[in-house]
Amino acid sequence: MKIAVLKETADGEKRVAATPETAKKFAALGATVAVEAGAGAAAGFADAGYAEAGASIGDRVATLSGADVVLAVQGPDAATLAGVRPGVWLVASLNPLAERARVDGYAAAGIEALAMEWMPRITRAQSMDILSSQSNLSGYKAVLDAAAEYGRAFPMMMTAAGTVAAARVFVMGVGVAGLQAIATARRLGAQVSATDVRSATREQIQSLGAKPVFVETVAGIEGEGAGGYAGEMSPEYQAAQAELVSAHLARQDVVVTTALIPGRAAPRLISDAQLQTMRPGSVVVDLAVEQGGNVEGSVAGAVVERHGVKIVGHRNVPSRLAADASALFSRNLYNFLSAFWNKEARRPVLDAEIGNAIRLTRDGAVVSERLRS
Ligand code: NAD
Repeated sequence: MKIAVLKETADGEKRVAATPETAKKFAALGATVAVEAGAGAAAGFADAGYAEAGASIGDRVATLSGADVVLAVQGPDAATLAGVRPGVWLVASLNPLAERARVDGYAAAGIEALAMEWMPRITRAQSMDILSSQSNLSGYKAVLDAAAEYGRAFPMMMTAAGTVAAARVFVMGVGVAGLQAIATARRLGAQVSATDVRSATREQIQSLGAKPVFVETVAGIEGEGAGGYAGEMSPEYQAAQAELVSAHLARQDVVVTTALIPGRAAPRLISDAQLQTMRPGSVVVDLAVEQGGNVEGSVAGAVVERHGVKIVGHRNVPSRLAADASALFSRNLYNFLSAFWNKEARRPVLDAEIGNAIRLTRDGAVVSERLRS
């Protein structure tokens, strides 16, 4: 059983899908591990570390030759995988809905593509969930990025020269990223409030010492959709939310938006008119910028200014913390492959619940229900 670890090809991607730590663990399972030269360099993991862990280092062709499983952070195109044997597993974040042509390429090449971001949100798969591990870091980094752009301090400071007021931070969307954003802003001493459409988050917000801001006027709302994710809200709810948020936004210094709805464009949470009500010098970080954006006017890959408000739209935020993001991502992949390790077959064998959820292609065809419907 040979596991190949690729050097990422996507622009600006600094993460790597295995670290020396997980390479060693794979070797302990009985796998041989081949790492493309320089694969971990951008995340601070030198080739020598992998070699010490028992992996071989080579060029891409040597790495892929005879591989049974290919690990990557972002899905490479089929051309990058040229020469792999049919039936090889590709385990990565594959962005299947947006990268449909690429998925067809995997099918044509006989690759069995496994989309790790479609891991079901069930208790036993928590340790394999790349969305959680990466979102957590994004939430943290979003607050640091905001603090770096903000021309004032976060904590209240009483000095001989006078008092500096605490920053008011508002987090919109309290999933994994939002919870970490709240915790980080609190650690920095900000006054934090937060909102979500899922009422279950109210208690979580309070338990982190932040103030929940919720629509109370529209009865019978429960924003929880399938799998614990948010569903799309009614127009009535959206109007009530916009009104509530408008009043609150005008008093905020920093806003972090994280709201996503699986399979759809990100919901618009802040309009240009609402930005205009914010104080010049305020900062808005749009973590959903690559999914269409929660904030009107946010630009993927840029920090732009509108009405004196900075809108931060960094792409691929986890890659900005490449060492930790790689370490956690790699452990997610190890936890996944080792949980299904079959001693007789000396390779992983998936069960139906997880296999059917994440398998996109097999035996030359696209087999995922989500892609076929
Ligand atoms: P997400 O990234 O899909 O979305 C971020 C947040 O935005 C969510 O809390 C969502 O409710 C919120 N949102 C959507 N539309 C909104 C709107 N119009 N206004 C305000 N907020 C809006 O979410 P996530 O981080 O993936 O987490 C979703 C849930 O799944 C959480 O309850 C989380 O704890 C749970 N989860 C479970 C597992 C597991 O059991 N394996 C793993 C990870 C997360």
